[in-house]
Amino acid sequence: MTTVLFDMDGVILEGPRTDPQVYADAADAALVDLGVEPTPDQRRDFRNHDHERIKTHCRDLEIDPARFWELKETYASSGTHDRLRSGERGIYDDIDAVRDLGERTTIGLVTNNRHETAAFVADYVGFDFDIVRGRDPTFEGYERRKPDPYYIDDALNDLGVTDGIYVGDSPKDVTAGRAAGLETAFLRRPHNRNRERPSNATHELESLTELPSLVASTDSS
Ligand SMILES: [Mg+2]
Repeated sequence: MTTVLFDMDGVILEGPRTDPQVYADAADAALVDLGVEPTPDQRRDFRNHDHERIKTHCRDLEIDPARFWELKETYASSGTHDRLRSGERGIYDDIDAVRDLGERTTIGLVTNNRHETAAFVADYVGFDFDIVRGRDPTFEGYERRKPDPYYIDDALNDLGVTDGIYVGDSPKDVTAGRAAGLETAFLRRPHNRNRERPSNATHELESLTELPSLVASTDSS
């Protein structure tokens, strides 16, 4: 049966991305750990994701940029996990379709989000994913995010398969999925309801409940 890989944010987790406040809090916590007091301008950059600015400020403050980045990623993961446990961030109510599919075929979770959070979410929803892949907590790991197919390719290599379907809520999911040689399913969610369907998307889903029929039609074709 067809292998189906899923994006996480906007597919499993409600909303298209991590709240910027999570990264702001994570940067602040990392800076406390490293014992430095940045200027307000430096702090603003640390809370964002511009690597060159962050590396420059780390040099000026005499801290290791790789260490700062890893700490920030780790704190962002724990902040995200807290928000999921408290219900501040929800999960979509149609994701049982993923669980059901996992009982019949190979499924995977492949996300731009941090690997630590992907592993947490896989455990939290209790699905039997055959592969879970998120970004590594390094500058290089961040640069490999979709639309780069790096993490999808990596997951396919691990699984030893070359075809399947990638399900995502964003045009970059379609770009990355196609680049990895997969069919793609563009999933409609409230935040992308008015976006045009990416022209290169193989399929479009109004809900994950449409997955069984999509997979069945793919298998029979
Ligand atoms: Mg997404």
